[in-house]
Amino acid sequence: MEDFDVVVVGARVAGASTALLLARAGVRVALVDRGRYGSDTVSTHGLMRAGVLQLHRWGLLDDVVAHGTPAIRRTKFLYAHGETTVVDIRPSPGVPALYAPRRFLLDRLLVDAAAEAGAVVLHEHAVTSVVHEGRRVAGVRAQDPQGRTVELRGAVTVGADGIRSLVAADTGARIHHRGEAAGAVLYRYVHGLGSDGYEWAYGAGAAAGLIPTNDGLSCVFVGTSPARMRALRSRGSEHAFRCLLGQSFAGLPERVAAAEPVGRLHGWAGVPGHLRQCWGPGWALVGDAGYFKDPITSHGITDALRDAELLSDALLESLGGGVAEREALAAYQATRDRVSTRLFAATEAVAAYDWGSHDAGRLVREVSAAMGDEVELLQDRPLRTADVRLGSRPVGVLGHRR
Ligand SMILES: Cc1cc2nc3c(=O)[nH]c(=O)nc-3n(C[C@H](O)[C@H](O)[C@H](O)COP(=O)(O)OP(=O)(O)OC[C@H]3O[C@@H](n4cnc5c(N)ncnc54)[C@H](O)[C@@H]3O)c2cc1C
Repeated sequence: MEDFDVVVVGARVAGASTALLLARAGVRVALVDRGRYGSDTVSTHGLMRAGVLQLHRWGLLDDVVAHGTPAIRRTKFLYAHGETTVVDIRPSPGVPALYAPRRFLLDRLLVDAAAEAGAVVLHEHAVTSVVHEGRRVAGVRAQDPQGRTVELRGAVTVGADGIRSLVAADTGARIHHRGEAAGAVLYRYVHGLGSDGYEWAYGAGAAAGLIPTNDGLSCVFVGTSPARMRALRSRGSEHAFRCLLGQSFAGLPERVAAAEPVGRLHGWAGVPGHLRQCWGPGWALVGDAGYFKDPITSHGITDALRDAELLSDALLESLGGGVAEREALAAYQATRDRVSTRLFAATEAVAAYDWGSHDAGRLVREVSAAMGDEVELLQDRPLRTADVRLGSRPVGVLGHRR
């Protein structure tokens, strides 16, 4: 049995970021994941402005760039009725361009930074249950790689364990806002596409996108309703992929066919979004565990990076004794919900896949407008400095900015 201030379950964008920020502030953190260190996950990886801003504010953007992640300086919107709009990515403080690092890279950089800051990182540890003490959560039980049960106790347990969160299930975290729309996705990597920006294409009831990423590769994805995807995939995934590319925008199948495929197609069947109660006595949720929306607006990672900071600030306030836990965590949830609601609704509209290509432009503009609030929230937010104390140890010694 080991004692920590905070036990974080899930070591990807939400969990590793939360652990990183807490550990930099002097908090004793355990970061646990059942997966392998440096592994990939089912997700494309386009970051939006607020996500890049977070990596810059935490001093990690230079590492992302140093690993060969290409700069994305424009976004092209392609509509099936023939209209094309190109939007240049305006550089802003901390955000010279957008980036789309592969998940095995981004998640690893966050985990490494958390470990460097002092978090105890335990991969290949599957959490099997939450430890309850009276009404409080007091940690987790996990199975180590040898199959032994280990208990990790913490003043607070954070569920950053994704869409099927065990922490959410075990604490009975209630969904207070449930989405209806869900999109199915197929994606693959190709070499030699020659795309220098994001390209998002919208056809009748189908969408596609190109995301330039590491190693000269582009991620090519297609999306549609789960029923249509199932029908198309009954004739094979390659057939479905080609067909949806063509229905999103004429010319895309030829461009993609001229590039060299690298690896297999990856699929996502589609799950409706949710906003959940994200805290209780001794526990909190962050990332998809508490807030999931359809991937079509490419925003889950950006939101996870935002909410990791909102949560770690709340935990620093409550662990330091300055603010009662329930007040700090209720404020975390209120802010998360306030800055998420508009994008959640806009994502629902796109993920319904019931728009014609003329409506798509209007929906896309609504998605862009919905992203403004979070950038505003983050750009002037101070990184916590040494202003809180946890027992005799200093808490809140962030301010790490390159
Ligand atoms: C097809 C698809 C495409 C997407 N494209 C984009 C995109 O372009 N841009 C974008 O911003 N977002 C995108 N997203 C959304 C993005 O992937 C998620 O929002 C993001 O991964 C959430 O991160 P997370 O850290 O909350 O959870 P996850 O990435 O799901 O990580 C959860 C971690 O918890 C671990 N875990 C779970 N249960 C346990 C347990 N019992 N014990 C120990 N560990 C456990 C898992 O092993 C995992 O490593 C996409 C999603 C999908 C499905």
